[in-house]
Amino acid sequence: MTDTLTIAIDGPAASGKGTIARQIASYFELRHLDTGSLYRGVAAMVRDQGIFPTDGDAVARIADSLTIDVLERDDLRDAGIGNLASIVAAHPQVRESLMQWQRNFAMGGAVLDGRDIGTVVLPDANAKLFVTAEIDVRAARRWRELSAQEDIAYRTVLDSIEERDRRDAERSTAPMVHAEDTDLLDTTEMSIEQAVAEALRLVNKQIKAA
Ligand code: C5P
Repeated sequence: MTDTLTIAIDGPAASGKGTIARQIASYFELRHLDTGSLYRGVAAMVRDQGIFPTDGDAVARIADSLTIDVLERDDLRDAGIGNLASIVAAHPQVRESLMQWQRNFAMGGAVLDGRDIGTVVLPDANAKLFVTAEIDVRAARRWRELSAQEDIAYRTVLDSIEERDRRDAERSTAPMVHAEDTDLLDTTEMSIEQAVAEALRLVNKQIKAA
């Protein structure tokens, strides 16, 4: 459609932001980047190489060497990787390393979803959404996804999401926040179809208002 449109979709785990971002990208014929997969890719390499996730400089070297094929790994969605991703993502030097990657991807137009896209990575995006839902609804959604592949208790998923939310919101560099210039979309009571329709309405409204 237009080649300079950039759209930022932020929000916590299992809020529906990934599906919404993919559908919006398809609607506007834009490329889509799930930026969580970059942090998950770094986490997977940190685990493989036995690096301490708290060693920011060592993790940043891994982030510097990240290649696109890592993003295709089929273990990136494992519950343990999500948690490790939120630990490595708290290091400022890791975020810095992945920043250019994300901005390069967005050149020429794209939809990016993550935690800090509208606030830090693409602050001038044409449209910005913060997608959320109540914690028990998000945990149930993620538990349904994960339990199709691994034997995992609902309580474990809930605890892990709570811990990740806290870590992502409390870190000092690029914390997850609902910024004032960003429309809030609460998907608690919505089907995914309703959430996508509402997201498109809000994005179109922001683009027209600009
Ligand atoms: O979105 P997803 O759950 O795949 O992200 C995994 C983790 O990566 C998040 O919990 C968060 O710590 C980190 N992340 C981030 N900034 C982003 C995207 C993801 O810090 N833009």
